Amino acid sequence: MPAPKRKPASPANTSQTKLAKLGLRTDMDLVLHLPMRYEDETIVTPIAEAGFMSGSAVQVEGVVTSCDVQFRPRRQLVVTIADETGPLVMRFLNFYGSQTKQLAEGVRVRARGEVRHGFLGAEMVHPTYKPVKEGDPLPSVLTPVYPAGEGLSQAFLRKAIASAMSRIDWRDTLSEQTRAALGLEPFEASVRLLHNPPADVDEHALMERSHPAWTRMKFDELLAQQLSMKRAQATRRNRGATALPRIGELSTAFMQALPFRLTAAQQRVLEEIRRDLKESFPMQRLLQGDVGSGKTVVAALAAAQAIDSGYQAALMAPTEILAEQHFRKIATWMEPLGVRVAWLTGSLKKKEKAEAQARIESGDAHLVIGTHALIQEGVEFAKLGLVIVDEQHRFGVGQRLALRNKGVDGADTVPHQLMMSATPIPRTLAMTYYADLEVSVIDELPPGRTPIVTRIVDQNRRDEVIERVHAAALEGRQVYWVCPLIEESEALQLQTATDTHAVLSAALPDLNVGLVHGRMKPAEKQAVMDAFIGGEVHLLVATTVIEVGVDVPNASLMVIEHAERFGLSQLHQLRGRVGRGSAASVCLLLYQSPLGPVAKQRLMTMRETTDGFEIARRDLEIRGPGEFLGARQSGQAMLRFADLQTDQWLVDKARDLAQALLQSDPATVQAHLERWLGGREEFLRV
Ligand code: ADP
Ligand code: MG
Repeated sequence: MPAPKRKPASPANTSQTKLAKLGLRTDMDLVLHLPMRYEDETIVTPIAEAGFMSGSAVQVEGVVTSCDVQFRPRRQLVVTIADETGPLVMRFLNFYGSQTKQLAEGVRVRARGEVRHGFLGAEMVHPTYKPVKEGDPLPSVLTPVYPAGEGLSQAFLRKAIASAMSRIDWRDTLSEQTRAALGLEPFEASVRLLHNPPADVDEHALMERSHPAWTRMKFDELLAQQLSMKRAQATRRNRGATALPRIGELSTAFMQALPFRLTAAQQRVLEEIRRDLKESFPMQRLLQGDVGSGKTVVAALAAAQAIDSGYQAALMAPTEILAEQHFRKIATWMEPLGVRVAWLTGSLKKKEKAEAQARIESGDAHLVIGTHALIQEGVEFAKLGLVIVDEQHRFGVGQRLALRNKGVDGADTVPHQLMMSATPIPRTLAMTYYADLEVSVIDELPPGRTPIVTRIVDQNRRDEVIERVHAAALEGRQVYWVCPLIEESEALQLQTATDTHAVLSAALPDLNVGLVHGRMKPAEKQAVMDAFIGGEVHLLVATTVIEVGVDVPNASLMVIEHAERFGLSQLHQLRGRVGRGSAASVCLLLYQSPLGPVAKQRLMTMRETTDGFEIARRDLEIRGPGEFLGARQSGQAMLRFADLQTDQWLVDKARDLAQALLQSDPATVQAHLERWLGGREEFLRV
């Protein structure tokens, strides 16, 4: 059989593909592809003067006096040009044969690059250059340099963008009145200025993105984000959910059987959740509460309401250890009350998995607890009413979406969704990133907790620390020993954990030292955790697998080795494993000196406060919002221009305007979203 003939890709086609790779599909995409910097080609510096400007790029113009391919020390093209003030060498280590013709003797060129002093006097290595005629006018505007993908030249991008600019509809989506009220520049003028700034522009303000033209771009972008999130929220409301109105026998009995009373904060957020669940549009609520604030019981009470109303609930946790712990705890609470709880993770045997799936599908299981196995193919819920995602920031947007879409096939409703997080997000950030979420906050810890004392200890005092561990164990307290994080290599990390375990076992022969790490089989892991929970293991050597959720109240001493390698929120999560009982708890942060300034700042913060919200605030200060939230968080993907830290004042204005426009001006909303998002709004529907 003859091979099917392929149409050869036309150059336009491949460029189109390359543009698409950069996310540039429409004319408006191109127009909003803004330069990352500029080159000043508006002036020509005499060559003799250029020699004194080493370190910064300059433009010179001269006539080629020689053009040779040289072979020493390696093959290179060496071109000499000269103006009235003197000669300059242009050196190309990579070059095409055609360049020797382009740069033949007698050709006049403008070249731009950094001047350095080479063997032959002033020279530029790999300058950009173009042939010109004598007297060719200089550009009057700065030359834009665009973010470009592989194989896309600046010249091509400039042309594509200029041509897109000639085609688009420039109408301003903000009225003159609105612009005046907010102190914003017109759209068209701003865009044109950013692509081709006049030579006398405040270049510093352009680079800092504090120029009014940038402000307008940022504002428009933030407005699009707010509009689209608010609209997604409205769409969700229209989607419909099953109302879960009954707070019945199970809820009541469960509350009565609890060995403690809810704190006022737990009570308050529970009321907020209960109210949402009674509605027939889907709840989408983020429950924030510091480590140990008691989110699990609130989630269980929400599940009870779903079950009381005749529906199923699902709880998804990011790690097997945490899921298992939830399963045990909640099963102990609820099974005596007649609730059937199913357990589903990836590590179950085939038969067990099939069994669990059958119970979920038939509706026999009221409550399903597990890892992301819950969202995998083959899991169908009979009547899923409520989805709970613990430590939601650990999941990607897609995974959260997949769970919410369970039980939606054929139905026109979606389950209610409760997301929990112990990485508190400061209010202002939450409003931008989670503009379409309701946020509940547990701002109080259960009573009787004694605050954790945190000490920073030089790694070379390890022997004293081991002594201290010994003393604590003799008093009947339990200890975590967290091994250093080794980001480069998981194998190395395991090695360190095993080594640490061996060293500590040898140093403390009368203690029972356990080891838990990520590569163990779930059953082994569980056996160790059980022994620790049961008190048989005194000292648990662990990797960061214990970071989230692990709850052993009798553990009251934690040692973290090489604490300087951990991030703030990770340290806070780890430390949260102690201080869960009534014994005074201590966290020892071992560090290797010398400490860098950022690491030092982090450790000081840990010593100064145990308040997760305060820690999050400082973390944000240290790292900036992008890194703080992680790129997978919703909303992040669309902010190219605005910086949530420096542009917070704009966020507030954008939010207010979004609110007003949605109420009174749907045409503007539509136009603005089309301009800024094109077809990409789906991104935010999560
Ligand atoms: P987190 O918010 O970090 O998930 P957990 O839900 O694991 O916290 O709760 C931490 C510990 O506090 C658990 O042992 C839990 O049973 C206990 N707890 C929760 N609420 C209360 C309360 N109101 N009074 C006393 N202890 C509580
Ligand atoms: Mg938890």
